[in-house]
Amino acid sequence: MKLAVYGKGGIGKSTISCNLSIALARRGQKVLQIGCDPKHDSTFTLTSFLIPTIIDTLQAKDYHYEDVWPEDVIYQGYGNVSCVEAGGPPAGAGCGGYVVGETVKLLKELNAFYEYDVILFDVLGDVVCGGFAAPLNYADYCLIVTDNGFDALFAANRIVASVREKARSHRLRLAGLIGNRTQQRDLIDKYVEHCPMPVLEVLPLIEDIRISRVKGQTIFELAESNPQLHEVCDFYLNIADQLLSAPEGVIPKELMDRELFSLLSDFYLNPQTNVEPEVGVDFLMI
Ligand code: ADP
Ligand code: MG
Repeated sequence: MKLAVYGKGGIGKSTISCNLSIALARRGQKVLQIGCDPKHDSTFTLTSFLIPTIIDTLQAKDYHYEDVWPEDVIYQGYGNVSCVEAGGPPAGAGCGGYVVGETVKLLKELNAFYEYDVILFDVLGDVVCGGFAAPLNYADYCLIVTDNGFDALFAANRIVASVREKARSHRLRLAGLIGNRTQQRDLIDKYVEHCPMPVLEVLPLIEDIRISRVKGQTIFELAESNPQLHEVCDFYLNIADQLLSAPEGVIPKELMDRELFSLLSDFYLNPQTNVEPEVGVDFLMI
């Protein structure tokens, strides 16, 4: 199974990816996580250090693919999850998406691409240019991480459009949304009401998750010494179990930008549309 985790920058993709990878490994899967964000910290909490990127390694070997060995680019992380970082192009030069293509090409040449039960791509989704959409060419399921705010849902809607487009040429489905760092889900619910898709899980803001990033460890690793955190692990295990049950998923139909603006802004401007005006409102009209 190949998974592509998308979402706006900083929304929590890597945190979810690392913990979900472990959750899938705990369920007996052989997992490879590929960081495709130029930030190249996708696998940081699995390995506790910034591993060399594919692009660093290729540059060091003068792009001689035949000189690259699996151990140069694939690192073992916590929970038996294998880790790769694609890396980014030099600032202002090249395209991040090209890097994703090179990464898959190299992994195929190393015969590593078909060796895993699950490959999870952790991908930036602010701009879904051709290159960043590349993992969708390999994925069976796309997962989108969002919070309950406009920007993340706007990015989600752009990703939805890419999924619809890619699903025309191969068997890609949207598994659903994962709400992150939010207690509220009114805007998420409003969005899925108009653009139907499953909501797999909604995680609140959890201080221990923030701390886990600073410590360079996943929640699963921290739970070894703090049993209270098993509750948090259950969020990720739940997502893993849903994916392993081979859900049908959806081919979504994105909203027009205008539609999305009015849907979510309406809600911002008139959050109490259906509520009777309070006594005293009349004074405002004088
Ligand atoms: P992305 O990969 O989308 O750029 P990250 O996974 O790196 O985002 O998360 C950004 C920051 O938010 C990190 O410091 C992470 O620890 C924190 N974070 C993610 N999810 C949560 C959560 N549910 N509660 C609290 N902090 C979170
Ligand atoms: Mg990330």
